[in-house]
Amino acid sequence: MNGPGRCPDCAQPVLWTRTQPGATTAGGMQMPVSRLPDPAGNTAVRRDGTTAWISRRVTNAQPLMGYERLHMPHQATCPAARQKQLPLELPAGVARLDERRRNRPRRP
Ligand SMILES: [Zn+2]
Repeated sequence: MNGPGRCPDCAQPVLWTRTQPGATTAGGMQMPVSRLPDPAGNTAVRRDGTTAWISRRVTNAQPLMGYERLHMPHQATCPAARQKQLPLELPAGVARLDERRRNRPRRP
């Protein structure tokens, strides 16, 4: 999949890109980013000729080029992904570990 599409998890419109090989990644992965450019993003997106959309991580060593646009990785804004990572409401009877630790009396 490459080009405009939808996130399979939340059905929001995204732009499917193919990742370029980077310093730590082999590339060639499919990565959804925001459908429109987003100056707050960290992913440089360009069009390879008239066909494939290519993305890469912007770094200090490889800053954004004039032929690229900044997009936000969809993972950062996907409500479905957020739900998987951070459950806002815990099931009844389940205590947050961080709060339990904070409330535990200090041992001398
Ligand atoms: Zn999504």
